[in-house]
Amino acid sequence: MVETLSIAVIGAPGVGKTSIIRQFIYNDFSEVYTPTRTRYVYRPSVILNGNMYELKVLDVPGNNPGGVRNANAYILVYDICCVESFEYVKSRRCGSSEVPILVVGNKRDLQRQRFMPRRAVSVLVKKTWKCGYVECSAKFNWHVVLLFKELLGIAVARAMRQNHTSIRLQGALQRNRCTVM
Ligand code: GDP
Repeated sequence: MVETLSIAVIGAPGVGKTSIIRQFIYNDFSEVYTPTRTRYVYRPSVILNGNMYELKVLDVPGNNPGGVRNANAYILVYDICCVESFEYVKSRRCGSSEVPILVVGNKRDLQRQRFMPRRAVSVLVKKTWKCGYVECSAKFNWHVVLLFKELLGIAVARAMRQNHTSIRLQGALQRNRCTVM
């Protein structure tokens, strides 16, 4: 039995959404920036605490986000060196409290150029927005698995509490790509 969970990855163009997803699934990173023009769906399988989950990870183009309403969880990415990308996240963090939202500050390797101290962002996001907060570097694969693990942990705990019907049990397995978290 496998549970399916859809995760939408949202953020301004260039913040590293595709890089985070590709690092997580393929252990791959490219310095070359290829803007995502249309939505792309990745379907990795992961194991968390002995349970297998099929993820549907949606890479949402920053300049064409459209409506992404039906995800089980959201990752809102910004670049810790780019205040505009934080404003983008701020204006989109309006999900209902039932859906887990994780705000991710990417490009941690460039942290000398950050526009706001980590502690200040973390307090704002966690205490005021009531979202999770993780910083990562897609370039160096730092905290990338951790952020998916954190989000999945919250989503699964919440779904169990609410007996969420959209996280459904399925019979089929996709074993080609599987990350043990
Ligand atoms: P997207 O438009 O949000 O999907 O952004 P991309 O994943 O395409 O990345 C945009 C640019 O930022 C690319 O040139 C990446 O190489 C670069 N990039 C992504 N993540 C990082 C990171 O963690 N550190 C650094 N230094 N560059 C990154």
